[in-house]
Amino acid sequence: MSGGDKLDFEIRPNPQPVAAAERATLLTNPGFGRIFTDHMVTIRYAEGKGWYDARVEARGPIPMDPATAVLHYAQEIFEGLKAYRAADGGVTLFRPDANAARFVESAKRMAMAPLPPQAFLDSLRHLIEIDREWIPDTEGGSLYLRPFMYGSEVFLGVRPATEYLYVLIASPVESYFSGGVKPLTVWVSPDYTRAAPGGTGAAKCGGNYATSLIAKAEAVAQGCDDVVFLDAVQRRYVDEMSGMNVFFRYADDTLVTPPLGTILPGITRESVMKLASESGLTVAERPVSFDEWRADAASGRLREVFACGTAAVITPIGQVRFPDGEFTIGDGEAGETTMRIRQTLVDIQRGRGADPHGWVHRVL
Ligand SMILES: *Cc1c(COP(=O)(O)O)cnc(C)c1O
Repeated sequence: MSGGDKLDFEIRPNPQPVAAAERATLLTNPGFGRIFTDHMVTIRYAEGKGWYDARVEARGPIPMDPATAVLHYAQEIFEGLKAYRAADGGVTLFRPDANAARFVESAKRMAMAPLPPQAFLDSLRHLIEIDREWIPDTEGGSLYLRPFMYGSEVFLGVRPATEYLYVLIASPVESYFSGGVKPLTVWVSPDYTRAAPGGTGAAKCGGNYATSLIAKAEAVAQGCDDVVFLDAVQRRYVDEMSGMNVFFRYADDTLVTPPLGTILPGITRESVMKLASESGLTVAERPVSFDEWRADAASGRLREVFACGTAAVITPIGQVRFPDGEFTIGDGEAGETTMRIRQTLVDIQRGRGADPHGWVHRVL
């Protein structure tokens, strides 16, 4: 693809798709990220040539030379968004243009070739079209789309790769957290941080997750559901969780979330800020220290805390654990404001609520 040209996708239907009866069985209990659809999209990039060879084909292994750049220096980025089955049988996406734009920003930070947003959006449409039968029609179910891209050049020198492979796969999912919406217990990591100023915290790259895994495992070992990272410089201020942004709701109806910089600019985060301010809350982006968090939870000034992201939408946080103890947010149950914002957002995403911002994007 050169200039503003549109990519043509070659469509090669899977000659051996999963049989309808087997698919129906799989869809009764899909879990999260366990089962996959029949197809995938791939698009290649080479320096001097641009983006080319866009295909929709049977999902399968990607042959890889052991000297492929990503295996050594981790030039890899990804996105995550969901396709929903609309009441009339159509299919919608929530703000896919924002994912396309963030994919470009992540690519730039990782010195990778940015995929034109139109090609990103077209890839989503093509995969959804061919695999639409895989979209669960259950309450809470959706088709999770995972676009990703990596340095595919076969070369061990240390510099940005000159070749990239973009891939899109899809996985039917139920709720991210088994057991549905129940308040999380989170672990505030004393030892690990996820991103430093000047680092890759704002890029959606696999490397950020690689470094968060040990902290998440520590959280689980402490009986917690997830980890909260503090800032890397002062080890005082709340950054975010391993894959979700965090919000604090105070008694005076302000809703506070940490500012952008070292955190991932979540699309759910931005949507929540907008919906909350429209619903009459005072929304602020400012640092929240761990000491302040603990003191305000104790005094009752802090009423609710929740985490948000595409996978789990909005999840209340009920309990906070750290090496010296633990504290409870409110009565430890899901907060009223948390659940109200969650409902508003889910209703928009599912096409049940008014969509004044034009966030819902009709695909089929
Ligand atoms: C993807 C992600 C989020 C959530 O972003 P959404 O756009 O709301 O899905 C938050 N934090 C991290 C680290 C992430 O990778």
